[in-house]
Amino acid sequence: MIQEFLIAKDTEDALKLKRNNPRSVFYAGGTEINRLNSTVDAKTAIGLSKLGLDSITDEGGSIRIGSMVTLQQLVDSDSVPQWLKDAALFCGSFTKRNMATIGGNMAMCSDHSYLAPALLASRARVLTATITEEGSYNEDNMPIREYHAYHTLFSGTLLLGFLISKDSRFVGSLRYANTLQSQAAVTVGFGATKNGEGVIDHVRVFAAVKGIGLQRLPSVENAIENGELTTKQDVQISVGHEVEAKDDTTGSSSYKRYIASVGIAQLFSNFISGGVK
Ligand SMILES: Cc1cc2nc3c(=O)[nH]c(=O)nc-3n(C[C@H](O)[C@H](O)[C@H](O)COP(=O)(O)OP(=O)(O)OC[C@H]3O[C@@H](n4cnc5c(N)ncnc54)[C@H](O)[C@@H]3O)c2cc1C
Repeated sequence: MIQEFLIAKDTEDALKLKRNNPRSVFYAGGTEINRLNSTVDAKTAIGLSKLGLDSITDEGGSIRIGSMVTLQQLVDSDSVPQWLKDAALFCGSFTKRNMATIGGNMAMCSDHSYLAPALLASRARVLTATITEEGSYNEDNMPIREYHAYHTLFSGTLLLGFLISKDSRFVGSLRYANTLQSQAAVTVGFGATKNGEGVIDHVRVFAAVKGIGLQRLPSVENAIENGELTTKQDVQISVGHEVEAKDDTTGSSSYKRYIASVGIAQLFSNFISGGVK
């Protein structure tokens, strides 16, 4: 339970406060930190509101989204692609969308994440800041798949923002929950590009499965790129074999495997037929 709230002056100050305070966490919108039965257990919160990370900037070839941008800002922005607005709208509560941030959501990489499957499918880049034990401050720019693959290694890392390329990439995500307000059993993300000769490349397939985690499905990605999976049915069968699931209150493992496979197959089909980006 949070007992102390410190407000960081700048990004370096935030990292120093985090390093110098045991059991501390960065505090963005606070919607997960303050949630009943939250997964975040900390004594000290380090507020990020003064860091100037709450804007969306058009940088020509890409869009830069600060980590403190709220889900509602994503929905309201003219620069943000539709696939990211759709993912932000998976959060059904307007009040929560006004508080919850893109950085807080990605930092969790949770098994019911609103945004992570779509962001990972998009091949966004993540902007981070770290500080060494000796106090040397560093900023980095890395592929989002790396942030996900080595997530536990980034626990002290401050997310500064995200770079979303404006290339003509298909990205889509779908969420399956009992109601808009319920935690999702499965949220899937699919992204791919097709060149002038129709060659499919840079396929990304992710599934957040409640009780298991946020999974990448590399065999499905490779099989699509190699032309081994060409139809919606092929993709559905392949995802059903690769995705991991387990029974819990959101559904049985076979139900979750089924909806993950149907969802990804549908997104693949939308991509093949040149559907909405
Ligand atoms: C009723 C309820 C239902 C919810 N359902 C869902 C759901 O279905 N799907 C879902 O994804 N989320 C859900 N959430 C959780 C939460 O609302 C979202 O994940 C939200 O996007 C978290 O963002 P935040 O800014 O509020 O994060 P915070 O609560 O401020 O922080 C969450 C975590 O991220 C870390 N963090 C925050 N910002 C940064 C940063 N810039 N750099 C590094 N680490 C950072 C914090 O230290 C903390 O560990 C739910 C919350 C509530 C209250």
